[in-house]
Amino acid sequence: MSLTLNSAMNGKSRQDLIRERYNHIYQHELAHKMAGGQYAGAIHIEKDANGIPVSGHVSIQMPTLDKNNPNKTIQHADTVIKAAMAPSDPSGQDYKVAASARAIKMQALAVKNNQQGKKLDRQA
Ligand SMILES: [Zn+2]
Repeated sequence: MSLTLNSAMNGKSRQDLIRERYNHIYQHELAHKMAGGQYAGAIHIEKDANGIPVSGHVSIQMPTLDKNNPNKTIQHADTVIKAAMAPSDPSGQDYKVAASARAIKMQALAVKNNQQGKKLDRQA
């Protein structure tokens, strides 16, 4: 596909195309960033050799299982899941990040349930 031909057919200039692509990618990344809050990094937009924006990314800090504070891990994981699924068009990578965060959340929930079980036993 020729981008030049394609944009000419749509009556759009190269600048319009660049602006449209940039805005589309930026909105996607901004949704990640807003939902990710303190765990999200800066928005990066990658361009091809012609200066056309092709992709973007926002780094997100993944939770690690804190056995002494599983609630913290669960909250962190929930934020990452929300951030990954925030755009209206999540990418394959976004689904992977959400799945990883869900796996860590499940581990934290297991730790939490185990601790609660032990407490009940002592009280009984
Ligand atoms: Zn994304």
